[in-house]
Amino acid sequence: MENNSDFNSAMADQIGGMGGEQPISEKNGFGRLQHIPGQPDELTDKEQASRDKFEEMVSNRRGSSSRTIDIRDGWIPIDRSELGVRSQFYKESWQFRVRPATVEAIRNWSSIDEENLSVVNNVMNEIIKSCVSIYDETTGMAVAWDKINSWDRFWFILKVREYTFVQGEQALEFDEECDSCGENVHFVLTSNSLFYEFPDSEVVERNWNQNEMYWDIDPNDYDVDYHKVKFFVPTLQKDSAILQWIYAQNEAGKHIDDVFVKFLPYMLERAPKDANLLDRMIKDCHNEFKRWDADVFLFFDEVRRNITINPTEKLIGTCSNCGEEVRSTVRFPNGIKYLFAIQSKHRKFGSK
Ligand SMILES: [Zn+2]
Repeated sequence: MENNSDFNSAMADQIGGMGGEQPISEKNGFGRLQHIPGQPDELTDKEQASRDKFEEMVSNRRGSSSRTIDIRDGWIPIDRSELGVRSQFYKESWQFRVRPATVEAIRNWSSIDEENLSVVNNVMNEIIKSCVSIYDETTGMAVAWDKINSWDRFWFILKVREYTFVQGEQALEFDEECDSCGENVHFVLTSNSLFYEFPDSEVVERNWNQNEMYWDIDPNDYDVDYHKVKFFVPTLQKDSAILQWIYAQNEAGKHIDDVFVKFLPYMLERAPKDANLLDRMIKDCHNEFKRWDADVFLFFDEVRRNITINPTEKLIGTCSNCGEEVRSTVRFPNGIKYLFAIQSKHRKFGSK
């Protein structure tokens, strides 16, 4: 990466989770990313009943003690059906728990420099680290927070936000004009309102191995002469390790292959803490990558685009006037800072 703008865009890619990639349209390729609107429509009656029961349990637990305070304590289990399609990209035995953001986390959050991607990235991870926990029922062990899949980070952050501001105070709201009739359509940004692009269900069924947690890809099935490969799901752990690695490479003045970096979170099974070991694993991946001829590359590029889940930055609403579907982009009315910043009730001291 020769210049800063390349470096920044690679960073932005790494920070990911907010901006997705447009799927390539193709006729009879590996698959297409599908647009599936928000989860609630897709729930069966049974799922809905389970969700309602869960919500009731949680709201009982919140009880009256939270009436007057904004920030509370305690872990709250997450109903995995809320993750919808995304749930199958975690081990079945994993339980997720969320707790409200601590005062300290909120303080850190409120003072972030929004222009600095790496700072925003760290603060986001800090929220996940302190407010999301994973427990493996089979092993009876805690699982590290950074095993969260990259595309779910913002969802968990919103979940934490929702448990922090239990009463729905400080909603993130904005209006979008309906394209058809010009009426204002109101949007509220919540974990349930996020809109994702998912892989084809056939692709998932055919290639995803949930027990072993990898994509099983046989290029020969698609008339590409290459051995079978495993692709893995990008996680926060790998993202941050790769980011560190990019920094180190950049500092050492080494060339970074941008295209390879896009494949890396899928090729790397895990990211060990040991920098030398990680470097060796990345080199192995790079050697493999360099063996791909043009045809193989095009195939794997198609695979990569088709096995990812894109958080699209889109919200979907319905115009109350004409009934048309209206799409809005995720916006932070007062900047990303206000996701957790507490707006004080006192009179303003000055204009800054
Ligand atoms: Zn309308």
